Amino acid sequence: MSRPEKKASVMVIGAGLGGLAAACTMAARGYRVTVLEANDWLGGKAADWQEGGYRFDMGPTILTMPRVLERIFAEAGITMTERLDLRRLDPQWRCFFEDGNVLDLQENAENMAEVLESLCSGDADGYRDLMAASEQLHNISERFFFWKSVGGVADTLDLSSTFTPATLRDLLRLRMDSTFAREIRKRIHNPQAAQMLDHLTQYVGSNPFWAPAVLLGIAHMQSHDGVWYPMGGTRAVPEALAQLGRELGVKFRTGTRVERILTRDRRACGVMTDGGEVLDADIVISNMDSVRTMRELLEHVPTKKFERQWKRRKPACSGVVLYLGLDRSYDHLAHHDFVFSANPEEEFDAIYKQGIPAPDPTCYLAAPSKTDPAVAPEGGEALYVLVHTPYIRKGQNWEDLFPGYRQIILDKLKRCGGMPDLEDRIRVEHHLTPLDIHERYSTLRGAIYGLASHGRLNGAFKPANRSSEVPGLYLAGGAAHPGAGMPMALMSGWIAADCADQDSAKSKTS
Ligand SMILES: Cc1cc2nc3c(=O)[nH]c(=O)nc-3n(C[C@H](O)[C@H](O)[C@H](O)COP(=O)(O)OP(=O)(O)OC[C@H]3O[C@@H](n4cnc5c(N)ncnc54)[C@H](O)[C@@H]3O)c2cc1C
Repeated sequence: MSRPEKKASVMVIGAGLGGLAAACTMAARGYRVTVLEANDWLGGKAADWQEGGYRFDMGPTILTMPRVLERIFAEAGITMTERLDLRRLDPQWRCFFEDGNVLDLQENAENMAEVLESLCSGDADGYRDLMAASEQLHNISERFFFWKSVGGVADTLDLSSTFTPATLRDLLRLRMDSTFAREIRKRIHNPQAAQMLDHLTQYVGSNPFWAPAVLLGIAHMQSHDGVWYPMGGTRAVPEALAQLGRELGVKFRTGTRVERILTRDRRACGVMTDGGEVLDADIVISNMDSVRTMRELLEHVPTKKFERQWKRRKPACSGVVLYLGLDRSYDHLAHHDFVFSANPEEEFDAIYKQGIPAPDPTCYLAAPSKTDPAVAPEGGEALYVLVHTPYIRKGQNWEDLFPGYRQIILDKLKRCGGMPDLEDRIRVEHHLTPLDIHERYSTLRGAIYGLASHGRLNGAFKPANRSSEVPGLYLAGGAAHPGAGMPMALMSGWIAADCADQDSAKSKTS
């Protein structure tokens, strides 16, 4: 693999998807890159767990927008399909409801519209209109929001064209006076279909009744770009990126926690590890949670602007995950399934307002043996169950809460998921609570998806990738712009690297 000449040195803190994407992009552009990872594996939340012939992805299971990954491989002149075998899944999700109804989310918008019409007259046109609005919002995101560092509305606008009629029309299309759930309910009148579509906000761990309407763009992204499964599991993605990094000369050091970002005249100039080792660098990219990076790794440097902008923003939700190795599979499940709560408003109120686990939760299931029989012994299933919970509140002790909540989840699946014998079929079992998530991945109060996307005006914004207060520092990962989820965390790594590369080139010419 031929590469440009060696440029400046880069220290990447954390080897989550954002950190790996940043490391590969920088190395492909000729920088000398070292990645320091606190855990003993690479990939962060995209970890796996194997026992007794079962293999589970522990974190992300749904891969969307693979073209983001394509762009990162392309930095090194490699075609993604040389490294990953991706399978497109349709139906994208199968949804089970308390009253026994089953509804598939289909990739083809016209087929989906026809199904919705059979549930409620007028919903086909409503769905077509929703998808048209979603396409506009997706296009606006592509033009103003993606592939560049953005920390607020001012960063999205090209000042030379701010007041053109076209830009004003785009601003109006953002529907800044509305929420995600409201835009759905204006068009979709069948409550179960609306509940299914609400869950597109699950990728950012937020309450659809508080999330900004602009996130509706996710509906078009998912329908247009598809839902994918990498053979070998989503774990195949960080493994492929780590391999690419090694080929590009990236040095990976696991079991190494960074305690401090070092600065000289406020400029990032290296890091200090938990072993007291000082490592110099021209550029520092942090894949640690953005708020914790600024508060903990830069404790000695006041970052008042960052605090002012982000201190009131709450963490996104956390979750309980069950990994159940079963001695049977269930024919009625699709690869991705939801078993829904009876009352979404009560469920979201519990998680996001009261800060307690929902008494009647929605359970997301992955049954990957549908696509990849190697995940379980023959005839079995590596069933993955994720229930969103509040981020960790004061006094919440998940060691005490977990056994009762596990039973609530299993009872829900037995009752509404068509798996009455589920508990008897478990052969191996493992789990993560919000506390485990917090400790394994160094998150903000157990939040899976960084900061919550709540607020009609600013909810979609996350901390910018280029620090305006500490030159030489860049933020990558699900807790920085453009946000959480596999494609966004990967894109954030690419943006952080691209900004660092541009700044480095500018400093050489000035
Ligand atoms: C249970 C679960 C289910 C999910 N489901 C989906 C899904 O289906 N689809 C989807 O798109 N997304 C999903 N996500 C979200 C997705 O996994 C994340 O948005 C994405 O993986 C986050 O990547 P990241 O770059 O932020 O890094 P992270 O995965 O957060 O990794 C950060 C890394 O930095 C390391 N680190 C932190 N601080 C330090 C330090 N001081 N020194 C050294 N190392 C440090 C950590 O150890 C960690 O390895 C899910 C997440 C979870 C947990």
